[in-house]
Amino acid sequence: MSGLVARGVTVRAGERTILDGSGFTAPAGAVTALIGPNGAGKSTLIGAVMGLRRLAGGTIAFDDTNLLAMPAAERAKLCAHVEQFATTTERLTVGDVVGLGRVPFQSAWQAAPSAHDEAVVKAALAAMGMAAFAGRLYHLLSGGEQQRVQIARALAQEPRLLLLDEPTSHLDIRAQLLVLDVLRHQARAGCTVVLAMHDLNLAARYCDHLVVLDTGKVVAEGTPADVLDPDLLLRVYGVAATIVQVPGKPYPLVIYDSAPNTD
Ligand code: ADP
Ligand code: MG
Repeated sequence: MSGLVARGVTVRAGERTILDGSGFTAPAGAVTALIGPNGAGKSTLIGAVMGLRRLAGGTIAFDDTNLLAMPAAERAKLCAHVEQFATTTERLTVGDVVGLGRVPFQSAWQAAPSAHDEAVVKAALAAMGMAAFAGRLYHLLSGGEQQRVQIARALAQEPRLLLLDEPTSHLDIRAQLLVLDVLRHQARAGCTVVLAMHDLNLAARYCDHLVVLDTGKVVAEGTPADVLDPDLLLRVYGVAATIVQVPGKPYPLVIYDSAPNTD
């Protein structure tokens, strides 16, 4: 099957089991959202796919190839990762940071980026609405601006698999819509896009496939209409909600009715 297929992924930290046999699929050409409460295991699952977490069990395949057995240099040409907390690098310009996305494709003896590299970096910055920031120092940008630069860096990698951990967490609503729209375009162009996110209405609006994690287990997977069910939201988040279908809109809308009972 084309796309990402994770099966039985188990990750432990000491005695604790953080992911407990979690499996999901992320079809190529689709945007897949990992949703679930804080601490559910979303970042750990993304880290596991990227080969950053040691698996106690399970398999991860991309386009039927074992991703975990792939040499790091090969993986870097295929997969891009936007971390939840990207560390800031001192004294690099925005253009330099986005240019890092081209490094996997450059030979060690290459003196300067190629014209193609430069064009790809420019296009990635423009896609994120950050063209005017190319010469600015990255570490002086706001959190939301840095987040858009990190997404531009990942786009500049021209990945076939793109994993983003809460990529819209610091963004204003316009930038959130821009990023999700760009990600959907990437998917339609053949990229397999997986992102962790919290906003269920934006997930319903922009994502084709939802994967729900709860305490280290995948508890539901499917289209937004299939997955966003009041019983599931109550069970997973402890929040009472109504799901409505707005006439003329093809995706469901979640209305939160009550805060969880914390007694
Ligand atoms: P999410 O991204 O869904 O909020 P995480 O994947 O970051 O959740 O973490 C899942 C759980 O595993 C959390 O309770 C977190 O504290 C724990 N965890 C993650 N990494 C480690 C680690 N290296 N050692 C111990 N606990 C960890
Ligand atoms: Mg996380």
